[in-house]
Amino acid sequence: MIEAKNLIKTYGEGNTEVNALNGINLSVKKGEFVSIQGPSGCGKSTLLNIISCLEKPTNGKIIIDNIDIADQDDDKLAEIRRDKIGFIFQSYNLIPTMSALENVMLPMMFAGKDDKIMTARATMLLEMVGMQNRMNHKPAELSGGEQQRVAVARALINDPLLIIGDEPTGNLDSKTGSAVMEMLVKLNKEGRTILIVTHDSVVANMADRVMHIKDGQFIDNQSGQEA
Ligand code: ADP
Ligand code: ADP
Repeated sequence: MIEAKNLIKTYGEGNTEVNALNGINLSVKKGEFVSIQGPSGCGKSTLLNIISCLEKPTNGKIIIDNIDIADQDDDKLAEIRRDKIGFIFQSYNLIPTMSALENVMLPMMFAGKDDKIMTARATMLLEMVGMQNRMNHKPAELSGGEQQRVAVARALINDPLLIIGDEPTGNLDSKTGSAVMEMLVKLNKEGRTILIVTHDSVVANMADRVMHIKDGQFIDNQSGQEA
């Protein structure tokens, strides 16, 4: 599903140069649940941005679902993001003026689907995350945990192969955060590939495999244990 080879990412130049990634190798198979754990500033978001086709590496190779990202134009990259990947963010990123239902439907609108089909699918997903009684509420009327459940439903609307979470529990208390993680564990058991980054070891350890990143490099040996 994801093959990253020797990824290097450098920002700035001269005395403002920052090596955000220093040779990242990562292989995530279909159906795996992998978490990447590391301190602030170690390169987690940079790595996710590259895997999400938002940024290109300075050097190295990144392959998503057998597609070499380096060979694709911006339209194709947007299509890969829309059709193959569902995103969950630390700050939920729901549109404040839209209801929960409209937020969930949004990524599907760009795929040009029939309105009835979209409404039915979004309703089904909101039921699945236990938000059937909040479908017409706006994000500000929902708690953080509820907003993240809406975001999980939105991430699933286009039936993606891969779900990417950037600190998906970062703004939640530990109980609500665990509930969101349980939801991801369940989605993984149903066959979805999941990759999250987090600074929280309790959250990270709910995945099948934890990789530890420091200063833009993984510090694990082959069996996934810290070296
Ligand atoms: P994390 O997500 O683990 O906190 P980041 O990937 O955001 O880490 O950042 C890794 C390093 O790259 C940090 O030193 C950060 O300051 C730097 N960095 C990230 N994005 C940029 C950017 N757009 N321009 C310059 N430096 C950046
Ligand atoms: P933007 O124009 O800001 O890049 P889009 O028009 O692609 O956003 O999507 C609109 C909204 O839908 C945004 O809030 C975005 O976060 C969300 N969204 C789009 N695609 C996805 C996806 N695959 N998974 C989760 N949310 C998505």
